[in-house]
Amino acid sequence: MSGAALLERLGDRLSAVRGRITPDAAMDKITWFRAGGTADALFQPADEQDLAAFLKAVPHDIPITVVGIGSNLLVREGGIRGFVVRLSAKGFGAVQAIGDDRLRAGAAAPDKRVAAVALEAGLGGFHFYHGIPGGIGGALRMNAGANGVETRERVVEVRALDRDGTLHVLSDADMGYAYRHSAAPKDLIFTEAIFAGEPADKDEIRAAMDAVQHHRETVQPIREKTGGSTFKNPEGTSAWKEIDKAGCRGLMIGGAQMSPMHCNFMINTGTATGYDLELLGETVRARVLEHSGIRLTWEIRRIGAFKPGHEIDEFLGQML
Ligand SMILES: Cc1cc2nc3c(=O)[nH]c(=O)nc-3n(C[C@H](O)[C@H](O)[C@H](O)COP(=O)(O)OP(=O)(O)OC[C@H]3O[C@@H](n4cnc5c(N)ncnc54)[C@H](O)[C@@H]3O)c2cc1C
Repeated sequence: MSGAALLERLGDRLSAVRGRITPDAAMDKITWFRAGGTADALFQPADEQDLAAFLKAVPHDIPITVVGIGSNLLVREGGIRGFVVRLSAKGFGAVQAIGDDRLRAGAAAPDKRVAAVALEAGLGGFHFYHGIPGGIGGALRMNAGANGVETRERVVEVRALDRDGTLHVLSDADMGYAYRHSAAPKDLIFTEAIFAGEPADKDEIRAAMDAVQHHRETVQPIREKTGGSTFKNPEGTSAWKEIDKAGCRGLMIGGAQMSPMHCNFMINTGTATGYDLELLGETVRARVLEHSGIRLTWEIRRIGAFKPGHEIDEFLGQML
C-alpha cells in the first residue's frame, strides 16, 4: 500500500496524534547499511502518551514495526507494510542518574550517551555501551553486549507499550534474556528503562571506555556501512572463525562484502542493495554449513518484504 492510501484508510483516526508521520519513508536513510526499501509510513511519536494514543488508534490489521537507530537492521528491497515506529530523541532520549547506583534512560537514547552519563555520575558497569552504536530500545530487545557484559546484567525494569497502547512494567526476569535475545512479547515497544551499576572511580571508568574504543578501532570496520556482527556465535566456536574456514573472508556479491578486516561483519561497499546483503549472508550460511556442518543464525534482524523475483531461501535452499 502507498503511504497516501494508508493514511486515507485511517481517515481522521490519527487527528489527535502529535508526533510526525512521514508517508513512503525511505529506510535506507535510517539504517546503518544505507540500503533497503520504503516503509508505507514512518511515525515518530512525541512522547509515551502520544505513542499510546497512536497504538490505540491504528487497527490491528495494519502492521507496526519498531526500529531504533538501525545499527542491527537489514531492510529488504520490497519495503515494510504499514507503519514503522521510530522513537524521537526529543520525547524518548533523556538519560539521568538516580540515587547512588541507578540510571534512567529513554529508549531513543544512544548507548554511548548512557555510558557518558554513567561516567559523569561515577557509576561503573556501563563502559561496554561506549562501543555499541545503537540505542537503548535496540539494546533492550537484542540484549546488546560487549567486553564480557550484557544489557541483562544492568536492567532493573523496563517500561513498554503493547499493541493496544497499554503500559507494562517488566522486570529483568520478565525480559526473558538469552544471548542476543529477549523473549519479551514481540509487540512490545520499550519506552524507558532503569539500570543499576556500582559506584566506581571515574578514572577507571574512563580507562575502560578508552580500551573499548581502542579495541574496536583495531579489529572492527566501525566506519563502514555495516550492521555489526552478522551471525551469532555458535556453541563452542566463533562465527568469524567458521566464516574464515569456509573461505568467505572478503567474499563479495554486488556491492555487499564480508569485511576483510572482521569477516563476521558484512559491509555495504557503496552500492549494495538489501538483496545483495541478504544473498551474501545466505551464501555464507550455505558455505559454512557445507564446510563444517554448522548452521549459523542471523544476529542482524531482517525486516520487510522481498521484492518480487528477488526472494532468497535460507541457506540458499541447501538442507544438509
Ligand atoms: C559497528 C557496529 C558494531 C556493533 N557492535 C555491537 C556489539 O558489540 N554488541 C552488540 O550487542 N551489538 C553490536 N552491534 C549491533 C547493534 O548496535 C545492537 O544490536 C544495538 O543494540 C541495536 O540498537 P538499534 O537502536 O540500532 O536497534 P535497531 O537496529 O534499529 O533494531 C534492532 C532490533 O531492536 C528492536 N527495537 C529497536 N528499538 C526498540 C524499541 N524501542 N522497543 C522494542 N524493540 C525495539 C527492533 O525492532 C529490532 O528487532 C553493532 C553494530 C554496528 C553497526
